[in-house]
Amino acid sequence: MKTCSTCNCDKQESEYSVRKASPDGLSYICKACASVERKARYAARRDIELAQMREYTARNKEKIAEYQKAWAVNNKDKCNRNAVAWQKRNPEKVKVSKRNIQGRRNAAKANATPIWSGELSDFVAQQANELASMREATTGVKWHVDHVVPLRGTYVCGLHVWNNLRVISAIENMRKSNRFEVSA
Ligand SMILES: [Zn+2]
Repeated sequence: MKTCSTCNCDKQESEYSVRKASPDGLSYICKACASVERKARYAARRDIELAQMREYTARNKEKIAEYQKAWAVNNKDKCNRNAVAWQKRNPEKVKVSKRNIQGRRNAAKANATPIWSGELSDFVAQQANELASMREATTGVKWHVDHVVPLRGTYVCGLHVWNNLRVISAIENMRKSNRFEVSA
């Protein structure tokens, strides 16, 4: 038997881990106390590390955003897989986000419709919608009415007018995803 220096309990030698530097070759404290100490040390270290990480994040917001953006560009497939997995786990959030996107899109469309555009644009938009459905029925793949110059592009904003509309396949449309090349 050996007395633990922490809990003062008498315990079998097998309840102490080996410590070669000790006179009897065993630790001063029992395995149970050692485990408690280890956990406390780990928790304290973790709190410090988390605080440091939060502080670093707050100080380097822009750097981190840039890094994440670059990572996303270089890891498109992984990003897409993660996004799909996240969407599967969060159907409610997806619904809300889709509603918000649609709301912003409608607002952008309303803002981008010039008063002089009028009936011709309405007519072309309606024709384009019909053409899209017709192509869908014929080809079996989705077709979108697309704004040639996106309504909310990065560099330029297009208009919801007859000469900025076209019918393209949904895949092509998603690939485009609001990129519009501006020649310098
Ligand atoms: Zn003990």
